Amino acid sequence: MSTSLERHKYDVVIVGAGGAGLRAAVEAREAGLKVAILCKSLFGKAHTVMAEGGAAASMGNANSNDNWMVHFRDTMRGGKFLNHFRMAELHAKESPDRIWELEMWGALFDRTKEGKISQRNFGGHEYPRLAHVGDRTGLELIRTMQQRIVALQQKDKRDHGDAESFIKVFAEFTVTEVLKENGKVAGVYGYYRENGHEALFEAPAVILATGGVGKTFKITSNSWEGTGDGHALALKAGGNLVDMEFLQFHPTGMVWPPSVRGILVPNLFVVKVEFLPTRSASALCSSTSRMYSRISMQTTKLKLIVGTPIKITTAAHQSCCHATKSRARSTAK
Ligand SMILES: Cc1cc2nc3c(=O)[nH]c(=O)nc-3n(C[C@H](O)[C@H](O)[C@H](O)COP(=O)(O)OP(=O)(O)OC[C@H]3O[C@@H](n4cnc5c(N)ncnc54)[C@H](O)[C@@H]3O)c2cc1C
Repeated sequence: MSTSLERHKYDVVIVGAGGAGLRAAVEAREAGLKVAILCKSLFGKAHTVMAEGGAAASMGNANSNDNWMVHFRDTMRGGKFLNHFRMAELHAKESPDRIWELEMWGALFDRTKEGKISQRNFGGHEYPRLAHVGDRTGLELIRTMQQRIVALQQKDKRDHGDAESFIKVFAEFTVTEVLKENGKVAGVYGYYRENGHEALFEAPAVILATGGVGKTFKITSNSWEGTGDGHALALKAGGNLVDMEFLQFHPTGMVWPPSVRGILVPNLFVVKVEFLPTRSASALCSSTSRMYSRISMQTTKLKLIVGTPIKITTAAHQSCCHATKSRARSTAK
């Protein structure tokens, strides 16, 4: 068995191949840099493929009153004004351009009757704002980004004789450490999941695009990859984590039967919680809470009323806890 360590040198190492990581890779390559993309699963299989509803962008196609300022206001309100206003502002301003960009790169969004990119409602949005592709928007997004990266690699093959001369994907590779030298980030270290072989990547810039921490909850719709590795890597490297109480979740997850545990209840279902109203959020977090739910299947006009008690979902617990925490913080301010 060889004891020599596999080593690579790049300008930028991107940890994560979801929407965030792949977009960062395109940007870095277009700036002329040599990029490594490292991901725990296969290229094209990040959690992003599971996003169903769509991407929020105030293009105003469904309602011309929509614009970035309304989107910004909705976002700040949704975050109880605790969110980072500059990030919310950039998100609201730039998201229409990102959707156009995806379309230019080959994404096929659903259309309105006039042929514009269709937009639909989503929680907290004043106007219909989600650009979508049926219920598989995330898949289309990843497919498009993947295609864009392959196109850049093909161009590199034509120009430099090697498709992987500027962008190389290292799939099924888990990063365990961000390396530092003289107090500065100098690369990453990790191992191939298939055979346990370790490798070291030297790079003056490391981008952590490792997704969320949803898998820390027992019942969750999040992919197995979302174990918060990036948060831990950043902390261990001396970084600060901000707004950790803002965990993203969907409050409508399947709890029973076990075969579908954690699966997101799609947007076409509306789950009405009958008795949640004015009680304090902390009371709802009791693990013995039970509730009745009524599910109306809007699209088929069929009304399915579930009258048996179902246990409150973990996601709903998270929602309650989050609400309590947010309130406590705003009261303290
Ligand atoms: C069921 C569901 C539906 C959703 N629907 C929507 C929606 O409709 N609209 C919307 O805007 N958002 C939606 N979201 C949220 C959205 O999916 C995420 O916010 C988004 O996909 C995050 O993208 P990302 O690139 O940051 O991370 P991810 O797509 O999670 O990618 C993370 C990447 O990091 C890699 N990685 C992690 N740790 C390591 C490590 N240690 N070493 C190497 N690689 C690592 C993973 O392998 C993966 O490639 C939904 C979420 C869920 C759970």
